[in-house]
Amino acid sequence: MLKLDAEHVHNLSKRIRDLSGEDVTHCIQCGKCSGGCTVAPDMEEIPSRIMRFIQLNMKERALTSSMVWTCTSCLTCTARCPEGIDIAKVMNVLRMMCTAEGYTPKEKQIHVFNRLFIGMIQKYGHVYELGLMVKNNMMAMTPFSC
Ligand code: SF4
Ligand code: SF4
Repeated sequence: MLKLDAEHVHNLSKRIRDLSGEDVTHCIQCGKCSGGCTVAPDMEEIPSRIMRFIQLNMKERALTSSMVWTCTSCLTCTARCPEGIDIAKVMNVLRMMCTAEGYTPKEKQIHVFNRLFIGMIQKYGHVYELGLMVKNNMMAMTPFSC
């Protein structure tokens, strides 16, 4: 059972606010973000639940959720939130925290793809799709998948 620690319950939401400027404590759990999310139907967690994990300082649940790594940054949730929370930005910060703090997402290959993608942007300023696919397949040991 979840035990709330009044002294530390806002640790994660404060951290997210420092890194993104977004205050997740304003989330009223209306579910509009989840209702419009393009990938939520296939996920065990949904954006509003991730917001709740943050509110309750459930760091590990938030940082290891598949939702964080399958989010496509489509911004639908951000556009729908009545509290004006940029949820896509929060997801981005969660991915950064996950990488920086060594949390391993369930979707290991998405993690690898993300690193390759960001690395190409940093190096060339754009993504070279064929190169990205080849490198990704090599690292996944599936050279002939597309
Ligand atoms: S930005 Fe991410 S969390 Fe938001 S609706 Fe799109 S896929 Fe879902
Ligand atoms: S739309 Fe905004 S207020 Fe509603 S559940 Fe999502 S984050 Fe919370």
